[in-house]
Amino acid sequence: MKATHLTTEQLPDAARRAGAGHAEMDPQLLSALRSLVDEAGLLLGEDVRSRHPGVFMSRIEADVIVRPTTVEQVSQILALCNEYAQPVVVQGGMSGWVRATQTRPGDLALSLERMNQIESVDLANRTAVVQAGVVLETLQDHLQQFGLIFPLDLGGRGSCQLGGNAATNAGGVRVIRYGMMREQVLGIEAVLADGRVVSSLNHMIKNNTGYDLKQLFIGSEGTLGVITRLVLRLREQPSSSNTAMVCASSFDQIARLLRHMDGALGGQLSAFELLDNNFYSVNTAAGRHQPPLPSDKPFYAIIESLGSDQQHDAEMFARALEKGIELGMIDDAVIAQSERDKQGIWNIREDLEHVVHDFQPFYAFDISLPVGDMEEYMQLVTERLHGQWPEGLIAFLGHVGDGNLHIAIGAGQEPDREQVEACVYEPLAQYGGSVSAEHGIGLEKKRWFPISRTPIERSIMHSMKAMLDPKGILNPGKVLDLSEGAA
Ligand code: ZN
Repeated sequence: MKATHLTTEQLPDAARRAGAGHAEMDPQLLSALRSLVDEAGLLLGEDVRSRHPGVFMSRIEADVIVRPTTVEQVSQILALCNEYAQPVVVQGGMSGWVRATQTRPGDLALSLERMNQIESVDLANRTAVVQAGVVLETLQDHLQQFGLIFPLDLGGRGSCQLGGNAATNAGGVRVIRYGMMREQVLGIEAVLADGRVVSSLNHMIKNNTGYDLKQLFIGSEGTLGVITRLVLRLREQPSSSNTAMVCASSFDQIARLLRHMDGALGGQLSAFELLDNNFYSVNTAAGRHQPPLPSDKPFYAIIESLGSDQQHDAEMFARALEKGIELGMIDDAVIAQSERDKQGIWNIREDLEHVVHDFQPFYAFDISLPVGDMEEYMQLVTERLHGQWPEGLIAFLGHVGDGNLHIAIGAGQEPDREQVEACVYEPLAQYGGSVSAEHGIGLEKKRWFPISRTPIERSIMHSMKAMLDPKGILNPGKVLDLSEGAA
């Protein structure tokens, strides 16, 4: 496939405007928008600036935030924006980590926060139909009365919206058991850049009729369409839960333990989280969290099982851990005896405040690679970092069962960002790893995208973008640079 390289003149209008940086919104467009929504549906000035800007962003630069209440309004708004080549950035709960929702002066931000109805729950089929603006935790709470769960779970649960979870293909701590957001979505309704509504509201687990169009929008970070409604797959509420923290002297033990526990728990393993000594020590330092185990081991793991019979499952869980100790995979283990114990263990994993405080300037990474290569990779990144910044701080944690590591680094000065990033991303190429396991690309990782995607893959992505959004109005400049063409 031949590479295409677009010149600035050939760029779609919105992409050229986005590239130019500043362009004020057309006053005619603004008054047309005003006629489409009610008074609360259009925010300007201080009402825009005073809103939460999102992670790694100082403020919302967009000229206007439009807040529709129906899919018909979303369709009309996009058709209008397409006519005016007006850049549109969809904003959800603003809890993403890659600046995929960042706006520039002249942009229109589209918020679906008023489209927040759980429309129906089908108990026999175990599905829910929700509007895109429903907050994840709201759905989780709503389902309790039915004995069902929506298994996606992550730190931002209280603010992130299901439309955003789908647009970013969110992950979290239960992926090892239930999969990422992509696996929880059965059907989607989305609005294309020109206002056409794609209704793909499938309710079945099996539907093999040609291309699975919903997958186009899942993980597209608002660049291919605006997700307005979802059919979600629900699961049975587990009624038993067991949690332990273990420690080990080598990564090899952790890798063997993962296989052992998954086998011994007969499908109940629901989380397997790694914490290295650096991370564990930061969070269990004096005055912080109570350490359940001494902090002298190189690796720690949190293991969780979810099942249906507390007494039986607790015995199976304890037996599996004992066997792990016998087989030399675990140096020591603590099993939580109460909800408070469990929360105490999880807090050590989920609290990022102390590491952000201690590691300055703070950089956070989210990468994936095969579990068997992780130890070598961790050594390589640490060596590269210390080669340049001998005093640099680094800690590894993450969803090791999914091949996903999060890396916290405190090194150098802010202008060194690209060199720090190179220490983390460049070694991934040799393992076929990914520069983004679950956070997406946004603006933050665009520079490193080619490490994980071949020229032909990127070329297909460019073609898809051109097909679905020919004027380039949807989230311009995120994920792909249209100006680059496909190298
Ligand atoms: Zn994560």
